[in-house]
Amino acid sequence: MNKFADYKTVDVLVVGAGVAGLTAAAAAKSLCPDKSVCVIDKASGPGRHNLSGGTFDPSSLYEFLNLAFPNWQDNEKISKFLSRRVVNEQFFMLSSKSRAFRITPHLKLAKALKLSAGKMLSEGETIISVSKLVRVVEAMAVEKGVEIYYNFPADFVDFDHKTARAKGVRLADKGLDEGGIKQMNYTPGELINAENVILAEGADGYVTEQFIAHSELERNQPQIYSLGVKEVIEVSPEQYKAIGSSNVLRFAGYPLWKPFSSPSIFGGGALYPLGSRRIAVVLISALDWKYKDYSPYEAFCLFKKHPKVARYIDGGRVLEAGAKLIPEGGFHSIPRDKVRSTYAGTSNVLLTGDCAGFVNMHRMRGLSNAVLTGLQAGKAVSMKEKNGGSLAKNYSNMLEFSGLIDQMKRAAKFRQIISKFGVTLGLGLGNIDFMLPLFNIRQDNKREMTESYPFSGKGLFDQADFVKHTGVQHRENQQPHLVIKDVDICKWECARKYDCPCLKFCPGQVYEKMQEHVGPVNTSNCLHCKTCQRKCPYSNIEWTVPEAGGPMYTDM
Ligand SMILES: Cc1cc2nc3c(=O)[nH]c(=O)nc-3n(C[C@H](O)[C@H](O)[C@H](O)COP(=O)(O)OP(=O)(O)OC[C@H]3O[C@@H](n4cnc5c(N)ncnc54)[C@H](O)[C@@H]3O)c2cc1C
Ligand code: SF4
Ligand code: SF4
Repeated sequence: MNKFADYKTVDVLVVGAGVAGLTAAAAAKSLCPDKSVCVIDKASGPGRHNLSGGTFDPSSLYEFLNLAFPNWQDNEKISKFLSRRVVNEQFFMLSSKSRAFRITPHLKLAKALKLSAGKMLSEGETIISVSKLVRVVEAMAVEKGVEIYYNFPADFVDFDHKTARAKGVRLADKGLDEGGIKQMNYTPGELINAENVILAEGADGYVTEQFIAHSELERNQPQIYSLGVKEVIEVSPEQYKAIGSSNVLRFAGYPLWKPFSSPSIFGGGALYPLGSRRIAVVLISALDWKYKDYSPYEAFCLFKKHPKVARYIDGGRVLEAGAKLIPEGGFHSIPRDKVRSTYAGTSNVLLTGDCAGFVNMHRMRGLSNAVLTGLQAGKAVSMKEKNGGSLAKNYSNMLEFSGLIDQMKRAAKFRQIISKFGVTLGLGLGNIDFMLPLFNIRQDNKREMTESYPFSGKGLFDQADFVKHTGVQHRENQQPHLVIKDVDICKWECARKYDCPCLKFCPGQVYEKMQEHVGPVNTSNCLHCKTCQRKCPYSNIEWTVPEAGGPMYTDM
């Protein structure tokens, strides 16, 4: 029997089985065991669409575990999972394609002086893979009695404007062909009725953004993003020993940024060990780059070839690859209902984790806050059940009581300063951000892309191989989930002015030019990162949720 048949009406519906959504579901079910709690996710299994860096401040997870699993310390699996701490963290400035120097002492000094730069240090945090973290929290949610459904893409929140309440969430249709014609297996997207809706879709959520556009929610400033490109590489025993099983290496500079020169892209790289001779390599590039020919994937290749990085991974075997966005706008980009004075929610709909934008830009961390927002969402459901009141108001109060809103406010100007002044001056001024006014930022695609990126990473590695290692797949003849709104803009405006940047920036090599026409030719390669939707200079690409498919991450 299809379990879902019993779940067309639920008390709590969570969209997204990442750490935020699963924590919310498990917390709600722990506090209200009689309520039905259901999570839906577009991925084919736990952790398949989740990708992160490797260091995690587990304080909010402890808070969640103490609430939902008071005896968690007796659980060997959880204790073991959380036991790998960052013992030694080293920061390097890559000053050119072959030179580097250590900047760890500078950051330690910054930490002692309580400057923003010092907050990036992660010594004492836990080294994790988010796919594994998701699987651990998923198992706990299931143990509590939460129902979780994969291959269930949500299409939109069905919001009744008369009653000012969400009825529930409508699923995406399945079984349409390329032309939108119903196939034999066609299933119309059903409505899951829900008393409480918790959105936990991650960065640039498809349902979330539509909901914000059609509800009372608004942002003070637009959301801006970075794209992280990542691989997990199996290296030789000597290379693994050289990095050390508890050491994290972080990098600034090449190939993203050169002080007082070009390029100037905010971001950085990292290497960290995952056990069993596996090293994770990641390079994060802020999407407000000004280079029309910039490719985050090629920059990642240049980074991998820098001698300071290559010595740990050269000759290794790539096991997995992927790419994902990070929301970086911070406090002023968190949607809020100004009429009802609530953060990240309105009426019976809450926004948690990355889809609400709870990434702390001083620390450049989002995992801990994703767990914290999930926990507060679960508590808000319980408070509403016990004392009544508005779900969104309860949640907003809990976010304030937990200290999260203050934490986000303290880091509220940092990323804006970098966007305004560029990386070199911005990083310096960012240390005294509390003394500076708030600068307005533009959407990433409103940054004029007039310059050319000074390096080329073409041909260093095979991008098709990178895509293969993401495990991505979609049913070939399904309705396209990427749509170019006006092909003439591509041909007559973008090609002439910018040389069609989507051909370069898409990490999945989805876009191709065929006889003067640019289009999402290889839709089945789409990694769901949504860079194209956010960086196309004409906002000419629409990403919609596909009926199924996407990457198949296992250890990202
Ligand atoms: C490259 C990179 C490095 C990072 N490094 C760090 C770090 O070192 N430390 C740190 O603390 N944070 C880091 N972060 C941030 C951190 O990973 C995120 O803040 C965190 O994972 C967000 O969790 P989430 O549950 O909100 O979203 P996600 O993990 O993105 O989960 C969202 C889930 O929703 C599902 N979903 C989306 N849309 C739909 C839909 N329409 N229907 C159904 N399901 C849907 C997705 O499949 C996914 O499973 C990094 C992020 C990236 C990308
Ligand atoms: S889709 Fe956007 S980036 Fe690509 S060619 Fe068209 S307008 Fe340019
Ligand atoms: S098509 Fe868009 S969402 Fe898909 S991988 Fe390329 S940039 Fe990312």
